[in-house]
Amino acid sequence: MNVIGQEFQPIAAIATTPTAAKLLQPICQTLEATLWIPNSCQKTVNLSLKTQVYTDSLKNHLVNIWQDYNAIIFSLASGAVVRLISPLLQDKYHDPAVVVVDEAGKFVISLCSGHQGGADQLTNILAPLLNATPVITGASHNLELPGIDILGKPFGWQRGEGDWNKVSGIIARGETVQVLQEAGSILWQKHLPHQHPFDFEFPKIGEASPTPKARIWISFTQHQFSPDSDLPKVQWHPRVLWVGVGCERGTSKKLIATGIEKIFSTHHLAVRAIAGIATINIKADEIGLLEFCQEKELPLRTFSAELLNCVEVPNPSNIVATEVGTPSVAEAAAILGAKQQQDTNFQQGYKNNSSPIVEQGEIRDNKQESKLPLQGELQEEEKQLKLSTNLLVSKQIFRLEGEPGAMTIAVALAEKEYTGRTGKLLLIGTGPGQLDQITSAAKTAISYADVVIGYSLYIDLIKPLFNPGQIVEKMPITQERQRAERAIELANFGLTVAVVSSGDCGIYGMAGLVLEQLRASCWDGKIPAVEIFPGISALQSAASRVGAPLMHDFCAISLSDLLTPWEVIEKRLIAAAMADFVVAIYNPKSQNRTEQLVKAINIFLEYRQPENPVAVVRSAYRENEEITLTNLDKLLEVSVDMLTVILIGNQSTGIYNNWMITPRGYLG
Ligand code: SAH
Repeated sequence: MNVIGQEFQPIAAIATTPTAAKLLQPICQTLEATLWIPNSCQKTVNLSLKTQVYTDSLKNHLVNIWQDYNAIIFSLASGAVVRLISPLLQDKYHDPAVVVVDEAGKFVISLCSGHQGGADQLTNILAPLLNATPVITGASHNLELPGIDILGKPFGWQRGEGDWNKVSGIIARGETVQVLQEAGSILWQKHLPHQHPFDFEFPKIGEASPTPKARIWISFTQHQFSPDSDLPKVQWHPRVLWVGVGCERGTSKKLIATGIEKIFSTHHLAVRAIAGIATINIKADEIGLLEFCQEKELPLRTFSAELLNCVEVPNPSNIVATEVGTPSVAEAAAILGAKQQQDTNFQQGYKNNSSPIVEQGEIRDNKQESKLPLQGELQEEEKQLKLSTNLLVSKQIFRLEGEPGAMTIAVALAEKEYTGRTGKLLLIGTGPGQLDQITSAAKTAISYADVVIGYSLYIDLIKPLFNPGQIVEKMPITQERQRAERAIELANFGLTVAVVSSGDCGIYGMAGLVLEQLRASCWDGKIPAVEIFPGISALQSAASRVGAPLMHDFCAISLSDLLTPWEVIEKRLIAAAMADFVVAIYNPKSQNRTEQLVKAINIFLEYRQPENPVAVVRSAYRENEEITLTNLDKLLEVSVDMLTVILIGNQSTGIYNNWMITPRGYLG
């Protein structure tokens, strides 16, 4: 399955004419959407696997399918769509995303459920595929701000109570909104436009700050807002609370649910801030607990008695120790659950309608492969646990009249939220530079990502493709490893991360590095999910600027000996020169590496004629492009740097009226 747009599944597209059907068919293939066409189009439209025919009126057909899809793409007049869907609309939390594409494919309009349903995002994904203009009319989008009601979506935060419409309206008017964030990622704060309405300062006593017109809480606390307050408020709940549970055999789901609700309410904690349930591994099959986790879509993390035993807790019990081999289940499990959130890349996610994810917990050493600590190592681990955990609610015992069983509950706070999402890595080649040299699939992938990471020069080149709310991390040219590590870290957290390389990402680009690092971290090949988007490599773009030099066998050689020993590079240069390959020289020269090019030219001069044609192309398809056609013996006279690729022709390559041509042999 394609990585892009998975969360919109199932998707329907509706076309009422053959032209519209032809327009939507390729999109449906990319997004794995079902294309619905009327009977009348059946003969004229190529019926592919996912094309289905409706026989009723479109109005009736829509009634039948409205509930079945998370997103519906119409290619129809927007007025007609408005009339068709208006009787079906419920509210923005339940309606599917509705997107309209005009028959000519010039515009993609986010019509309904732009934020909650994701129609804005779907529009941004579709527009590059059609080479169309996205039409998004939401106020926050036009202010280049993330929608406040979808702000926490990438991080798996849960929307809490509050007057969302009022607060959104105040943001749209550009009035000051106070943000009090006590938990969860602050990445979103760092990627706002210069002009934004948020005030992040906690008010200091006696200090005047601009009077806010609204307030946003981002916390694990359940705030009670007075309906009469002049200050409209909303609350987001990052999932940072791990509930440790110990229970007797046969404890019912009802008792567990009531116990957790009661204890959360007593301590003013938000149930929506629960990341997951943690317990001892012998409870992995406890029916009440499993049912509770399934209903609430919470992961269940289990730990061995041996591991629970290593955690220092406030209320150990000798009786529990005799029974299960550890003096604490609830407190120790809560602490371990929270601790694990910090430093593991456990599977994030919850499969709807299936059993809850039951994870066998273990604590990892950050620098090593996953493993249980050995007895001798426990002390160190133990110290670390004491320091880095935060037990919010110590052990409470709970019983409910008329319900079987009893439970103990404790709540611990994790530093990092559980996102509940499966991370994705989109490894993207952006081509030589100009936006029209990027494939539409790559544009779509960039638009789809929560985070875009890349070398600053390339990030600047693709700036117009970014959407409000996207996290964009520019990193220096030398930090390829750090870029890959950062991308993997964020993907393991649950985010969709686009890693951009110039040219093709798999040709001296980031794709190999990211995959290598995933392999080194025992990646299972699936989580995070990876998809690769090819781009036009420098050898192709340079070739197209000078003619057709790559018409015969060719190879690429990088002169950078930072990662490859010079002896290896030299061997390849000799082989390529000897075998009469056309050669594309990447990374020919930098400020510190100047000798390599001289050596390479000397090698070629041993096997080739001095007048062997050479093209030197700097910054192909970029603003300051420079192209020089020369000969091997004069190559050193041309200015060459790290933005240059050199194409050395073969023995038959010639230059004709400033065009470099390598004959294929058709004309003898
Ligand atoms: N992934 C890239 C290559 C990255 S290595 C690709 O497929 O093109 C960096 C080297 O690529 C540079 O030192 C230069 O040799 C070459 N290069 C990248 N973009 C270029 C451009 N627009 N014009 C000329 N050379 C380029």
